[in-house]
Amino acid sequence: MRLPEHIIPAHYDLMIHANLTTLTFGGTTQIEITASEPTSTIILHSHHLQVSKATLRKGGGERQAEEPLRVLENPPQEQIALLASEPLVVGLPYTIVIDYTGNLSESFHGFYKSTYRTKEGEVRVLASTQFEPTAARMAFPCFDEPAFKASFLIKIRREPRHLAISNMPLVKSVIVAEGLIEDHFDVTVKMSTYLVAFIVSDFKSVSKMTKSGVKVSVYAVPDKINQADYALDAAVTLLEFYEDYFNIPYPLPKQDLAAIPDFQSGAMENWGLTTYRESSLLFDAEKSSASSKLGITMTVSHELAHQWFGNLVTMEWWNDLWLNEGFAKFMEFVSVSVTHPELKVEEYFFGKCFDAMEVDALNSSHPVSTPVENPAQIQEMFDEVSYEKGACILNMLRDYLGADAFKSGIVKYLQKYSYKNTKNEDLWNSMASICPTDDTQHMDGFCSRGEHSSSTVHWRREGLDVKTMMNTWTLQKGFPLITITVRGRNVHVKQEYYVKGVADAPETGLLWHVPLTFITSKSDAVQRFLLKTRTDVLILPEEVEWIKFNVGMNGYYIVHYEDDGWDSLTGLLKGTHTAISSNDRASLINNAFQLVSIGKLSIEKALDLTLYLKHETEIMPVFQGLNELIPMYKLMEKREMNEVETQFKAFLIRLLRGLIDKQTWTDEGSVSERMLRSQLLLLACVRKYQPCVQKAEGYFRQWQEAGGNLSLPNDVTLAVFAVGAQTLEGWDFLYSKYQSSLSSTEKNQIEFALCISQNKEKLQWLLDQSFKGDVIKTQEFPDILRAIGRNPVGYPLAWQFLRENWNKLVQKFELGSNSIAYMVTGTTNQFSTRARLEEVKEFFSSLKENGSQLRCVQQTIETIEENIRWMDKNFDKIKAWLQNEQLNLL
Ligand SMILES: [Zn+2]
Repeated sequence: MRLPEHIIPAHYDLMIHANLTTLTFGGTTQIEITASEPTSTIILHSHHLQVSKATLRKGGGERQAEEPLRVLENPPQEQIALLASEPLVVGLPYTIVIDYTGNLSESFHGFYKSTYRTKEGEVRVLASTQFEPTAARMAFPCFDEPAFKASFLIKIRREPRHLAISNMPLVKSVIVAEGLIEDHFDVTVKMSTYLVAFIVSDFKSVSKMTKSGVKVSVYAVPDKINQADYALDAAVTLLEFYEDYFNIPYPLPKQDLAAIPDFQSGAMENWGLTTYRESSLLFDAEKSSASSKLGITMTVSHELAHQWFGNLVTMEWWNDLWLNEGFAKFMEFVSVSVTHPELKVEEYFFGKCFDAMEVDALNSSHPVSTPVENPAQIQEMFDEVSYEKGACILNMLRDYLGADAFKSGIVKYLQKYSYKNTKNEDLWNSMASICPTDDTQHMDGFCSRGEHSSSTVHWRREGLDVKTMMNTWTLQKGFPLITITVRGRNVHVKQEYYVKGVADAPETGLLWHVPLTFITSKSDAVQRFLLKTRTDVLILPEEVEWIKFNVGMNGYYIVHYEDDGWDSLTGLLKGTHTAISSNDRASLINNAFQLVSIGKLSIEKALDLTLYLKHETEIMPVFQGLNELIPMYKLMEKREMNEVETQFKAFLIRLLRGLIDKQTWTDEGSVSERMLRSQLLLLACVRKYQPCVQKAEGYFRQWQEAGGNLSLPNDVTLAVFAVGAQTLEGWDFLYSKYQSSLSSTEKNQIEFALCISQNKEKLQWLLDQSFKGDVIKTQEFPDILRAIGRNPVGYPLAWQFLRENWNKLVQKFELGSNSIAYMVTGTTNQFSTRARLEEVKEFFSSLKENGSQLRCVQQTIETIEENIRWMDKNFDKIKAWLQNEQLNLL
């Protein structure tokens, strides 16, 4: 599948003519190459393009000789071979010239068609690109691997009513024929093919300059350009932050951010022209939610971080995708915590680690750095392990080295490898010769400790070996379970490989270098200890009542407290839960339930621990509690265990009633307070908590009577719509507002409400229509399918729909893509019966090479097996515990 390395492209000259009426395009690609070995065969990528002519030019300037090339196609490998009559001379410059045509793609990748409807109802067409990871070859023949960096001169032909944008600023426009204009863009810096981008549209834009003179613009469809201001300001602030933080100027004169009406993922970091789903970029000051503000800020921050991590310095091959994505994810938190402190993003960071652990705890997980070859395998790298785990282990390293030392290491890395490609070890080598923050570096490169360092800090004496330590996190899958046993002043620590559902960890020999941190009842100063061996012992200065490891959840591991360790911590939470941070509280909730899964902690003890949530007011512990408790009744819903299911749902509302009752029906407070309010009111209304339902019904009536033009407090809208959608009339009214709304937040809120209907015909209609893409965009289909897959009435429909339309879905969303994984797990991973397990296994194995080998299939099978085991083991206990809990309340 890989291209030979002896033909090296240096520069591309691209001319592309997009015809938005016939939905076709044609182009000429000229590539300047040199050969490092004498060969007469030039192999490069081309996919779904009709090559009409290929020639080879020798030499430069006036004295060029031209020779036709024979073209051989190899569609399964997405390659073409150009055959010259004699071998190329090593080191001489050649230019290959290829004329070709193609159709605008009907999917979301390559050079693809997108449409939108104006306020007046007119449908307009535009064409945009999405090349990462392997779709540049669908727009022009190229050496489509990240290590083949080259410069690009791009020319786009278009009609006068459209405009074209690309990576670089427009240099000039020439009229090439009646009604046909050719835009010439400036030459790019050296970059990978997957970062090339161009858009032909009738977008409008708004612009601002950064302090260093970079022109930042946001592009959107004309009716929504008034929603561009928030992202524009955020982009200017963030770009200025990164120039300062990385100490490397942004190398291009401009940065455009474009909102594309049809977009598969959230956004894409094309150099100088980042592209976004509309909901990830456009902010409507009236209607957008607090979570959408947070989401847009994080997404813009992510794409701009890529302009350095990914664009300037690129992974050599997709096996190290995490060097792009883990970093960009991590930088979201580093940058936004400084540029937008009011969003308090540091509070949310560890949630990413739990997301990663969810899949990383399965046997089907993979190391952060994993060999991949074909496009489907490459697509599969865009997962929680590359993004979230990557970010979490970087955060752990930063906590270990100190923020300043960490920063100086990554700056060194970016400077050294600018315009080049890297592997895992290049990063660690850049980190190797730096000292922890409170140490000083000597001329000889050794670090020495500051005077007040604590003696528990073992690693400083042993010196830093970042590479050996980090290899244990990137080259082996999964994460360790740390078991703590306290005997007087002695703390025994033990590490083992954690696999979900497996009581006794398999003897894998996996061992991590774990930077442990802890606090105790006697000291809230963070103590540190690097655990490199299977077991070790720490000695405390005095005996303690409780000890909490993984302070602030900065480490990528979970912790079990032997003997009465959990009882002490549960006692602490029930007494004064604020003695430890909200991150620590949330991590205790998470870890307790992880331990239930492997039988180290009883379900009763884990549930007892959640009872403290009666007094909790912070967003993350509450969300973590919901993340653990809601899936339990979801499993019951799919087993028809009505009585206990109802009792469990009632327990959940009882647990949070105090906090629910405290919520005002307004938009007051910080972003996290507002997000908490929105989710709590939704939960209360969906679980039919009457005070909530009645209020929501009242609001819905008023809103409907005002023709949907009444502006409701945003934080309550989701709950109000969810209640409104329960009647057929309300559902229809919501749908009519969906069609005319220009606000992404409002559309998403309505969409969610429509999907929780209990009416099967309506649910089936949503699946059909979003799949078709006329009145509901196909980009919404994965979310709709998943939401209906979570609906107790709708899940059989969703599962049926996925099976019946598998081939078309894979064509549209690509085999191995995150969207496909999201749909597979969204429709199946809450199954908890053997019959469903057999259905899932049978269906996916029947797909053969068209899906049976996908990692998401293994993940979902493993998860269903665990669900079955979990229910068999815990269901009766939950039933008994609930009765007890009720008695206790009487
Ligand atoms: Zn990214």
